[in-house]
Amino acid sequence: MQTFVDHARKWGWFGFVGLSYFVTAIAALKLSHGPNDTATIWAPSGIVLGALLVATRGAYRQILAAVAVASISANLASGSGIVTAVTYTGANFLETLISMGLVRVITSRKLSFSDPMAVRRFAIVVVSSSTLSTAAAVILSGEYSRDFIGSWFMTVLLGQLIFAPLVVTIRRKAPRFFSRNAEWRLGQAVVPLALVVGTSLAVFSQSDFPVLFVPVLPILFATYRFGPLGAAFSVLVVAAIGSFATVAGLGPCTEVAAMGVSPITFLQLYLVTLLLAALPLAAALAARNTSYNELMRQKGFFEMASQTAHIGHWRLVLEGQKLTWSDEVFRIHGLPIGAPPPLESAIDAYHPDDRETVDSALSKCIETGGDFNFDARIITSQGEARHVNSRGRAEVDANGKIFAVFGVFQDISQRVKVNQQLESARQMAVDEATHARVLANTDQLTGLPNRRRTMAEFEAALRQAEAAGTDLVVAVLDVDHFKVVNDNYGHVMGDRVLREVADIGTGCLRSTDTFGRIGGEEFLVVLPGATVETAQFVAERIRIRVMEITEQKVGMPAVTTSIGLAEFKPGMSLETLFQSADRALYDAKHAGRNLLKVA
Ligand code: GH3
Ligand code: MG
Ligand code: MG
Repeated sequence: MQTFVDHARKWGWFGFVGLSYFVTAIAALKLSHGPNDTATIWAPSGIVLGALLVATRGAYRQILAAVAVASISANLASGSGIVTAVTYTGANFLETLISMGLVRVITSRKLSFSDPMAVRRFAIVVVSSSTLSTAAAVILSGEYSRDFIGSWFMTVLLGQLIFAPLVVTIRRKAPRFFSRNAEWRLGQAVVPLALVVGTSLAVFSQSDFPVLFVPVLPILFATYRFGPLGAAFSVLVVAAIGSFATVAGLGPCTEVAAMGVSPITFLQLYLVTLLLAALPLAAALAARNTSYNELMRQKGFFEMASQTAHIGHWRLVLEGQKLTWSDEVFRIHGLPIGAPPPLESAIDAYHPDDRETVDSALSKCIETGGDFNFDARIITSQGEARHVNSRGRAEVDANGKIFAVFGVFQDISQRVKVNQQLESARQMAVDEATHARVLANTDQLTGLPNRRRTMAEFEAALRQAEAAGTDLVVAVLDVDHFKVVNDNYGHVMGDRVLREVADIGTGCLRSTDTFGRIGGEEFLVVLPGATVETAQFVAERIRIRVMEITEQKVGMPAVTTSIGLAEFKPGMSLETLFQSADRALYDAKHAGRNLLKVA
């Protein structure tokens, strides 16, 4: 089904080309009143050229066939004999072949009337093919008068200049033209068309006022509104009205007959001039439209990207301190889009603590040029603080003078918020890890360093003493008859007693000393840098204070402690030193308890 539609469309187009050829050929032949009976405009050659310009190479044969059939039919229909018909068809056929070759050589595949360069190439094709066509006509007819040559050349040239753009534009744009807002577009065409028809009638229906320049205005208007199609169509209207009038002996062109110039040739010159003025204008306008549309499209993308990324841009022209803001800058400030504030107010929108940063970055940029980049806070019109990143650079004129500053302005509140959340999460993790580490090293009941921590401190102190040759004394402290405390007063009271001992022990030491719980009711005292005498003094004080304090405390059983003390000697291992202290403790227990023994 699809292929059927495609075929129908393709053959329909060839049919259209052939039929247009036939109709315009008949019209031209019937109106042949120029010198040597040539028509004003030989439209068929323009139709063929237009068809060739938009044809794929595969379609060339069909176009040639359509031309042959249409040409023979038209010549026969307008009363020529078969020989004349075939001869003229041969000439037209030759002309078509020449145009085809030129199109292939000179134009790129896609000829567009919206590209000024392409229009120039088109003009070269048209002039060359008209020249070659004229040469062929001279050779075939044996006629070489100036009038014949000029008239033939202009007839073909006009046909191509008017009809090729029409055919190309119809082929390319017609489906779109009629699909979208067709009535509206056609409605818009009425006024320029009416103006072209009206002025042409006014100019060509009388011979008193040679106002040939008047139709130029509506033609340019039509060109401005409808591009190449408007140009070609309006010149066609002028050509049709002008031809009828001139042939009928009416209009300003007939005036030139008195000067020995053919009125039709003069009309042709006039029409060529109109087209040569309008077509480049159409191309330039179309090119401008294309650039404009592309620019708008890019601008749309840019706006979209700016909005999505919350990036605005601003510019400060130093002379007069004129500030401009993009829409996004207004949005970031929570302001309605409108006129930007004066520079001072724009700086005042920053947080008071950040204004200094902004001021100095901007002043430095204005004075010395270069880039700036800072993060700061602004206060929106709703009083909400927002974090922004502001970066930009100085604009320098041709003399190296700084005349403006351009900057981009990005709302980074979300990023800052996420960073703050990440930072607080990180801090929480660090705190928790620290807490876990403390817990892992702390005795839960007493808050003292636990056995692991105490032994680690002991080992570090021993290594230090060994390395530096300094003194070190350790003491093992054990609560006497603690089992009895538990038995008589209960475990809870036992725990209270242990906490009391812990407090007393810690209270008697310096910060560099360690008092740790290494077993149930057993504690280790590490005294780096202490002599045996000092250590003895300290340990005795603990022993006495435990005794005294527990005695004084109401409801608490009085407890005593036994202590074994040992001094580090170079080369001693941790185990040896510890066992030595432990043995001294054992001695103290055996000697009656509530005693301190030195190993
Ligand atoms: P000695 O004078 O020979 O040291 O006699 P002692 O009773 O103190 O020695 P023993 O080793 O026979 O008993 C220690 C008791 O300490 C046994 C245990 O129930 C108690 N104990 C150990 N850890 C804790 C604790 O955390 N809380 C309480 N309340 N008692 C504990
Ligand atoms: Mg004990
Ligand atoms: Mg014990």
